Amino acid sequence: MEFEFWWLLALPLFFSLGWLAARVDLKQLLAESTALPAAYFKGLNFLITNQHDKAIEAFSEAVQANTDSLELHFALGSLFRRRGEVDRAIHLHLNLLQKKELEPQQRIAVSAELAQDYLKAGLLDRAEELFESLDDDRYRQPALRALLEIYVREREWERAVKAATELERLSGVPFRIEIAHYYCEMAVKSQLANDTHSARFELEQALNANKNCVRANVLLGDLEAEANAHSAAISAWKRIEFQKPEYLGLIAPKLLNSYRALNQTHIGLALLQTYLQTYQLTSLLNVLFEATLAEEGAESAAKLARNELIKKPSLNTLDQLLQARAIVEVSHEQDTQLMQQAVRHAIGNRTAYYCEHCGFKAKYHHWQCPACNAWEALPAEPTTI
Ligand SMILES: [Zn+2]
Repeated sequence: MEFEFWWLLALPLFFSLGWLAARVDLKQLLAESTALPAAYFKGLNFLITNQHDKAIEAFSEAVQANTDSLELHFALGSLFRRRGEVDRAIHLHLNLLQKKELEPQQRIAVSAELAQDYLKAGLLDRAEELFESLDDDRYRQPALRALLEIYVREREWERAVKAATELERLSGVPFRIEIAHYYCEMAVKSQLANDTHSARFELEQALNANKNCVRANVLLGDLEAEANAHSAAISAWKRIEFQKPEYLGLIAPKLLNSYRALNQTHIGLALLQTYLQTYQLTSLLNVLFEATLAEEGAESAAKLARNELIKKPSLNTLDQLLQARAIVEVSHEQDTQLMQQAVRHAIGNRTAYYCEHCGFKAKYHHWQCPACNAWEALPAEPTTI
């Protein structure tokens, strides 16, 4: 193989190019670092080691030495916010806004920071006004996110729908579940104002936004049942089986009430039986047990509990079996009641709905977590621990 001698000439050339590039970078870096006060690096160091008080001190010093640097101000402001010292953040950003030499772009950037301060401080009106005034594409998405949070907190559902729809379009992240709940909230409001017509329309919108919105069918059924249209109510609730069957336990008492109003309790009980066989939900068994006890007596209820207990051992079902047996066997009533008390004691108050997002423990089902405001984050069935 013939060796190409000109390569030998090319090699030093490459080396010198690399050396030059490194030197240029180094020079730039040095220029930048001397422009930043030493206090800035001290502050960074405190941040890394989680000494936030000292970091604030160092950054404040850096800001004083370098009053023109917006980035330094923003760093200090966000540190104030994170530490809960929102007053100081607001003061800092308001002072910046008073500077005459700010360019329009910089003014928007400072306003965006100030809006975040107001949001954190709970000054929602001011935050809302400022976020809405941010007329710049770069801030549109974060502003919309903040605005959406404000609208939900202030229960301004029409505005929430608009903001979420635009956010969905800009970010590509779906907001279907949330939008459907905003419509459901509107429907609840309309229903409270006896405006059934609007409520019905809003529930349709909810289902258009998310065809799997269980809550829309729950509310639609409520609406019909309240107007004594029990057959229509039943068909609305029955649709939940094809959306998310795990929610059937939630509407089982409602279903049964409407069947009772139609004098068709036995059909209702048979339907719940079918649901129980198919989906094995504890809450369904509870409703069915109480109804069977009331409608068909203790023998039937005991049979139901016994059959379920054979399929799956559970303290809850054992409790039901004992309850029914105490009624049937009057002679052993006292023993059975003692056994039941022991079981109840063992079960205790251990069932709850836990939020998937924040772990909040709720006694009842909520569509929106009371702690973190996430939608549908609580499970359909309570968890036993
Ligand atoms: Zn939560």
